[in-house]
Amino acid sequence: MRRGRLIGSTVYRKLGYPKNHPLRIPRVSLLIEFLRAMDLLEEGERVEPRPATFEELLLFHTREYVETLIEADRSGRLPKGAREKFNIGSYENPLSPATFRGSALATGSSIQAVDLFLEGFLPFNPAGGMHHAFRDRANGFCFLNDPAIAIKYLRKKGFRRILYVDLDAHHCDGVQSAFYDTDEVYVLSLHQSPEYAFPFRTGFLEERGEGKGKGYNLNVPLPKGLTDRELLLVLEKVLGYVLDVYRPEILMLQLGTDLLREDYLSKFEVTNRGFLEAFRTVRCMAGEGIYLGGGGYHPLALVRAWTLIWCEISGRDIPERINERGRKVLEGVEWEEEEERSYMYEFLLDPPLPGEVRLEVKDLLLRIKAEVYS
Ligand SMILES: [Zn+2]
Repeated sequence: MRRGRLIGSTVYRKLGYPKNHPLRIPRVSLLIEFLRAMDLLEEGERVEPRPATFEELLLFHTREYVETLIEADRSGRLPKGAREKFNIGSYENPLSPATFRGSALATGSSIQAVDLFLEGFLPFNPAGGMHHAFRDRANGFCFLNDPAIAIKYLRKKGFRRILYVDLDAHHCDGVQSAFYDTDEVYVLSLHQSPEYAFPFRTGFLEERGEGKGKGYNLNVPLPKGLTDRELLLVLEKVLGYVLDVYRPEILMLQLGTDLLREDYLSKFEVTNRGFLEAFRTVRCMAGEGIYLGGGGYHPLALVRAWTLIWCEISGRDIPERINERGRKVLEGVEWEEEEERSYMYEFLLDPPLPGEVRLEVKDLLLRIKAEVYS
């Protein structure tokens, strides 16, 4: 059996986004502190991250774009015209230690995750999954597209049938753009419909790939209010169709937590029980894979959900209660909660809220089936 490895460090605390940004919150560092407090992480299971090299970044990004990021990080200022040309320096994609140093570390970690998987481990890189960055442009809080780079790295290693599954609340526009014209990577993304959610322009069912890639891209745009039952039904059906037409050699899974109901960027009603079951469903149907983090803007919801994932990966039973030390870690987060959610400090699993399966979700499934087998 593969042993779990968590690639991460508390150093991310020093590589944060600016104060007014949704990603200013502690994420990977908080996860590690929480796991330690809960006695769920042995030091030998943690792998120290290393930054991606310049050459690795060029597996997907343009030289000019990467050089601009490096220069901006070195000087602390944006070169003239960089904002217009590369979409950096905006409120969405601001200049901070996260812009290059944090992103390069998260990207190196995704390459480490690939290597660890090929060595027989089961890796989780919670800092990864920055799926919005384009080849020569920042997008959706993402500067470097670590999943795209890690997939390019897998192709360099000889893999020709790679399945990428993305559970983040948002469409993986950057990853889609990277592999839209190839059959060597199948991109499957479940997300909030772009009719009402970022990135608004892409993520529709009609985007099926082009050229040799036609039929190897599948978007599942989901309605507001998605329930646990709906998520699991859709995932099981759709992944079943995909595995019926595509036999992957290797799996990469993006595990953004912004689909959770507590996340203020989410319009879904998904609990972390549904999220955990979704993870189990993918593992059970598609086999083990390379696991990456992703979006997630509610620090407590994120840490609880990724703790569940880590328990699964590392073969631990899920503790029912959060212990005293774990609770202190969570209480130490600067975070104002608008609703009464004291369960978050007490239990790891959310209260059950399975919900119903609505007609529009059943209709969507019929349209997807027709699309896949067309
Ligand atoms: Zn997202």
